[in-house]
Amino acid sequence: MMSSTENRQALPAPLAAHLAPTARNIASAAMAVAKLASSGWQPLCGYPGADTHWHVRCLVCGQWDGLKFYSHLRRGKPAFRHPGCLPEAQRTAKLAEITAALSTACPCPAAHPVTAEDAAEAIREVSRARDEGDEDALSAQLARLLGRCPAAAARAEAVQAAASA
Ligand SMILES: [Zn+2]
Ligand SMILES: [Zn+2]
Repeated sequence: MMSSTENRQALPAPLAAHLAPTARNIASAAMAVAKLASSGWQPLCGYPGADTHWHVRCLVCGQWDGLKFYSHLRRGKPAFRHPGCLPEAQRTAKLAEITAALSTACPCPAAHPVTAEDAAEAIREVSRARDEGDEDALSAQLARLLGRCPAAAARAEAVQAAASA
């Protein structure tokens, strides 16, 4: 995956435009992103809220993308994912492979925040960037808080802790 400034523009915004990047919304989005990562879905656009259609890709078959409600996805790992996904045995094996690749440590060059202290600092930077109208810094910090990361679950916990401190 490329990560230069130019290519960052091609990545989906990490938070839907109608959701203000408040600590609370960022925390909800971080939880949602972590849940998707552990259940084999990839967000194709910013987290839109639990009861709004979210464009996601199925990483189990890698063939399907479409609209899902996070309020449905967060309930667990339903037997039915979408029409045409892999047969159950292969699906279970692929999901196991996906969850095995998750980690509690962030190995990414972007250094995603996985401690409450780092998450709090990133949230403060979001707030500062909003105040100053610094769109580049805002999207960079939101990408650190919500972008794809094998340690998305640890990061979500850190962001929750920081947001409720
Ligand atoms: Zn699928
Ligand atoms: Zn990471």
